[in-house]
Amino acid sequence: MDRQNNMELAAQLIQEGKLVAFPTETVYGLGANALDPMAVAKIFLLKERPSFDPLIIHIADLEDIKKLTTEEDERVYQLAERFWPGSLTLVLPKSKLVPDIITSGLPTVGIRMPANEIALELIRTSGRPIAAPSANKFGRISPTTAAHVRKQLPDVDYILDGGKTTVGIESTIIELTEKGFRILRNGIITKEDIEEVLPFDDSEKTESIVAPGMVKSHYSPVKKMIVADEDIPLDIDKSKAGLLSFTGKYENGYRKIIRVSENNDLKEYAVNMFDAMHTFEDDNEIDIIVAEPVAETGIGKAIMDRLRKAEYNWRRG
Ligand code: AMP
Ligand code: MG
Repeated sequence: MDRQNNMELAAQLIQEGKLVAFPTETVYGLGANALDPMAVAKIFLLKERPSFDPLIIHIADLEDIKKLTTEEDERVYQLAERFWPGSLTLVLPKSKLVPDIITSGLPTVGIRMPANEIALELIRTSGRPIAAPSANKFGRISPTTAAHVRKQLPDVDYILDGGKTTVGIESTIIELTEKGFRILRNGIITKEDIEEVLPFDDSEKTESIVAPGMVKSHYSPVKKMIVADEDIPLDIDKSKAGLLSFTGKYENGYRKIIRVSENNDLKEYAVNMFDAMHTFEDDNEIDIIVAEPVAETGIGKAIMDRLRKAEYNWRRG
């Protein structure tokens, strides 16, 4: 098969019900025709993703949203106008066209328009909305390069290589409520950003549906990983540890250091976080991956959410 970046071929594979990994601005996605339940089933199989964890559908034109949701709320268009293309996913009531396998049986579906030219071209050329979770094995470190995809999913039908992703962490997911919006997953688009368009709904959630897939362990390296919380003694052999360093203050004694940001920029931490975790995971001289924490405000919320889940199975005590 043509291993080059052949858009026509990739689009044809999507139409034929095959899987194509492609870059978005957040992380690499493992894509299938969202309207073909058999193709979507292959995503769950290849990723070893549990069937209770719903997928997000990617569109390239605002018109496409009408086919996928029954929602006609004006606020959807206000949000789209402000944040699309971009890393904001809207959870909306699904239309009949959306197969149940995508939503894990939920009456709602997650939809977004990615801000990446290759992703948009794949959707337009194939003429299909594309369901895509991250292109990695379930629960493991998210992929931000084509090499990360090859490492975890060597059997994928095709990979479009668009270089390193520019945001580096998954989209912010929100749902609309009577009052405004609720956040289901934090990302680079923050609560404060969205509040410029809609009020934040801080009322207690009354419905029984909790977002599935909000598992405690996720994004996880196959090696020990811990967040270096300041109030807990870091009881490890640093000569075998690699540090994701943010401020540069804690670098003493580590075998290797990856400076995730040159100038204390949280966006850079997000961009480089998964890549640094992959680098240490692949490094034979490193047994433990340590990450410097950041304050949980703004983008820091999304970063700490990923780091806490990545360390979950390895946490001390
Ligand atoms: P990803 O694995 O990045 O593709 O994101 C999928 C995640 O989006 C899931 O794990 C859910 O947490 C969330 N999600 C997708 N669809 C829905 C939905 N209909 N309702 C609530 N959360 C959803
Ligand atoms: Mg994922």
